[in-house]
Amino acid sequence: MSQQTNARTCVSCGINVVGTSAASFDCPGCNNQIHRCAKCRKQSTLYECPDCGFTGP
Ligand SMILES: [Zn+2]
Ligand SMILES: [Zn+2]
Repeated sequence: MSQQTNARTCVSCGINVVGTSAASFDCPGCNNQIHRCAKCRKQSTLYECPDCGFTGP
């Protein structure tokens, strides 16, 4: 049982991003919604889609 649909965690650092100014966007690879916290967005940390493994800036 996975609760991934309710959990919004930064794909880069894994923190909970609910209620924060996290960026949300669709994965170019699989259209899965990805969240990234403001800190990682600022640092342009690479993200990796947990679903399809797509990586991007
Ligand atoms: Zn982060
Ligand atoms: Zn993906």
